[in-house]
Amino acid sequence: MPDAAALPKILIVDDEPTNIDLLAAVLEDDGEILFCTDGASAITTAEAELPDIVLLDVVMGEMDGYEVCRRLKDNPITAQIPVIFVTALDQQTDEEAGLALGAVDYVAKPINASITRARVRTHLELKRHRDHLTSLAYLDGLTGIANRRRFDEYAAVEWQRARRHARLMSVIMIDVDQFKHYNDRYGHQEGDACLRQIAGALRKTVHRPADLLARYGGEEFVCLLPETPAEGAREIAERMRAAVAQLGIPHAGATAADHVTISLGASCTIVGMDTALETSLSAADANLYKAKANGRNQIAGP
Ligand code: GH3
Ligand code: MG
Ligand code: MG
Repeated sequence: MPDAAALPKILIVDDEPTNIDLLAAVLEDDGEILFCTDGASAITTAEAELPDIVLLDVVMGEMDGYEVCRRLKDNPITAQIPVIFVTALDQQTDEEAGLALGAVDYVAKPINASITRARVRTHLELKRHRDHLTSLAYLDGLTGIANRRRFDEYAAVEWQRARRHARLMSVIMIDVDQFKHYNDRYGHQEGDACLRQIAGALRKTVHRPADLLARYGGEEFVCLLPETPAEGAREIAERMRAAVAQLGIPHAGATAADHVTISLGASCTIVGMDTALETSLSAADANLYKAKANGRNQIAGP
């Protein structure tokens, strides 16, 4: 997901370096400037850098701007990046062709500095708003950590990546122990506050950028650990269990302890053609069930 606080990235694509210099000079105050002088590298750069806007020349050697735009829009990773065509072609039909491909705007060469700057700023602002809304749509309202939607989308992408490289994927399912009793005794509001504290404690136990902790449902959490072996998953699960126990939230109705605890089920899979994410989630869930049956406040698997 784009980092809202970061300076916007502006990718300029033109096979004529002097045109890049001109545009870069106009836009230097509006973001970090990246540039490419051919279509193929524009596509790789866009995918790697995820710029906030692309200014794209139409007439270029090997691959023209229309084709670059088409490919950016076809790739789910780059499809949302706004594209502005910058071109000497000024006939209406060309403008139409660019807009039909999904470009958001059109700037004619020779460029007018203030018009170009104004248009780029408008589209960067829209992009910033959209990114903000997207990030909200991925957050759980109660705890502020990732929600189920975010988990499902992220896990699907990471699973594909792991499959390409036959890598390990660990999953931890987490469920609060006897939480129904907690709500019954202390009230739903206290229950909500408790879930917030638990989420806060859990989030401090996962550190790698690729790890994702999410609220999976009511009082259940899930953690995806790409490229993590079974021992690693167990270690993190134990850290989670200890972190929640250490909160020391009184829970008079509990049988495993006198404070709030969690049970955890983990699984670890070598991701290949014949493995499915659902299976690895079910395996973690089956282990969670074992942890509950064995007395709660403990880990089962992987
Ligand atoms: P177990 O140890 O077997 O997991 O017992 P449990 O009581 O936690 O299990 P159960 O699934 O029966 O109950 C889960 C309870 O969690 C039901 C509901 O009262 C509570 N719960 C679920 N979501 C929320 C929430 O968003 N806020 C609050 N306060 N309580 C919730
Ligand atoms: Mg539950
Ligand atoms: Mg529970």
